[in-house]
Amino acid sequence: MQQAPTYNADHEQFRTTVRRFIDKEIAPHHAQWEKDGIVSRDLWRKAGAAGLLLTDIPAEYGGGGADFLTINVMAEEMARGVYSGPGFRVHSDIVSRYILHYGSEEQKQKWLPRMATGDVVGAIAMTEPGTGSDLQGVRTVAVRDGDDYVISGQKTFITNGQHADLIIVICKTDSSAGAKGVTLILVEGDRPGFSRGRNLEKIGLKAQDTSELFFESVRVPVTNRLGDEGRGFIYLMQELPRERLLIGIGAVAAMEAVLGWTLDYVKERKAFGKAIIDFQNSRFKLAEVKTEVKIARTFLDHCTALHLEGKLDVPTAAMCKYWLTETYGRVVDTCLQLHGGYGYMWEYPIARAYADARVARIYGGANEIMKEIIGRSL
Ligand SMILES: Cc1cc2nc3c(=O)[nH]c(=O)nc-3n(C[C@H](O)[C@H](O)[C@H](O)COP(=O)(O)OP(=O)(O)OC[C@H]3O[C@@H](n4cnc5c(N)ncnc54)[C@H](O)[C@@H]3O)c2cc1C
Repeated sequence: MQQAPTYNADHEQFRTTVRRFIDKEIAPHHAQWEKDGIVSRDLWRKAGAAGLLLTDIPAEYGGGGADFLTINVMAEEMARGVYSGPGFRVHSDIVSRYILHYGSEEQKQKWLPRMATGDVVGAIAMTEPGTGSDLQGVRTVAVRDGDDYVISGQKTFITNGQHADLIIVICKTDSSAGAKGVTLILVEGDRPGFSRGRNLEKIGLKAQDTSELFFESVRVPVTNRLGDEGRGFIYLMQELPRERLLIGIGAVAAMEAVLGWTLDYVKERKAFGKAIIDFQNSRFKLAEVKTEVKIARTFLDHCTALHLEGKLDVPTAAMCKYWLTETYGRVVDTCLQLHGGYGYMWEYPIARAYADARVARIYGGANEIMKEIIGRSL
């Protein structure tokens, strides 16, 4: 088992910055954003100004030049308050990484500094109405026409879909070549033929915009291609372990917070003349939760340490995503029960956590796909 990663003074200072930003710019507005189904555009620029976007992208491209533990701090703090509205993770930790790793120098110079300031919001569009888990089956096509690609198709469930100015679109450049026909192409939000559908109504992540996107013969120059033609699937597979680790980080931070709120609640609330915690059932349930959270933290620290050493392999990242999100689901359900009717009320953070937790077992690769990956490695 790897050692827990060590945070230094810079990480702790960054944590203070993130907490201050959340208290001032996110917490007071989140309830309204949940009603609106979207955060304010202004938030993105404020987050950029506070240095909270693209924190681990090199400074030469406008990023913070920080390390993975800094990203970890950001993910933890956002998850702890169940402030799921801002789609910073997709923007900072997914879209910008693809541009950094597979983009041309010109693409990096053009997009990353503007993403770091929050002037440009990023999204990644893989899923389609007909296919999500089976990414090789995407039907959005990019047909070469001289120095352009002409893109036609439809995407759905796209995080930041309403705000996005720049979208990485997973296309087929060769429909007969399976995974080898997949190519990643950057599409700007103002291209003729591109349109956004509804901001989808969800059972959780209420303040996060999630949309359908339509591409009707959208013409982009070949220079918008990210990396090589036909290598898109390989790029996706290379980036996914880190993305799955990040989902695990969010799950563990959230379950630690959920346990904390529940302990406070059961000590305070009384029934039949005693505190809820004084019932043996409550203590046993909380003993189980505490144990699961402890194991989850230990396993997460192990995976994080592996990642820092460049050794987090695909099956272990799949275990991380699968087991931590399943555990989070169990933990939040048990803890909500101990809150009684108040746990079902939206104003209590545990209700938001319960609703938000569900999707973690579906996105980033459904947990059944994680088990397939682990199973194949046996
Ligand atoms: C809130 C939200 C945000 C999202 N954000 C994005 C985004 O930004 N970009 C993006 O591209 N996508 C996004 N997604 C889509 C998400 O990644 C997909 O929903 C997910 O990959 C599952 O695909 P699907 O919905 O098509 O389900 P399907 O592929 O239809 O699968 C349905 C179910 O079938 C089962 N199943 C499927 N395949 C197998 C198998 N091989 N073995 C066993 N069981 C299987 C699983 O239980 C699975 O959950 C988002 C989704 C949500 C809900």
